[in-house]
Amino acid sequence: MDIPKGRNTANVGIGIQGSKSGNVRAITLLQNYLKNYLPEAKIIEMVVGGVPACGQIKQTISDGLMLVGDAARQSDPLTGAG
Ligand SMILES: Cc1cc2nc3c(=O)[nH]c(=O)nc-3n(C[C@H](O)[C@H](O)[C@H](O)COP(=O)(O)OP(=O)(O)OC[C@H]3O[C@@H](n4cnc5c(N)ncnc54)[C@H](O)[C@@H]3O)c2cc1C
Repeated sequence: MDIPKGRNTANVGIGIQGSKSGNVRAITLLQNYLKNYLPEAKIIEMVVGGVPACGQIKQTISDGLMLVGDAARQSDPLTGAG
């Protein structure tokens, strides 16, 4: 996905599901994308990380404990938004 940020910059990102991507790494797919579609582009910053996309867990509270956010698996599995 490309999100333009100005005349010469854009956020370019990719999300893959580790359990289904085999031996293909996200960085390789992203580099291939840049090579094919934005060959002049230079990477000026990288942000990487994992998003839990396994669906909700059954219980997020217990005595003296409440899970929220990623710990409670509350991120959107389609967009990765948390
Ligand atoms: C590359 C990337 C891009 C994303 N983009 C978006 C986006 O555009 N929009 C969106 O809505 N979401 C986005 N997300 C998802 C979003 O960042 C997360 O869902 C959200 O930050 C989860 O918040 P959280 O507070 O649950 O967990 P976190 O933000 O992971 O916070 C947990 C905190 O606990 C701390 N911690 C861990 N262990 C301990 C410990 N033992 N003791 C004390 N502190 C500890 C950690 O250092 C961290 O500060 C993105 C995620 C990634 C990886």
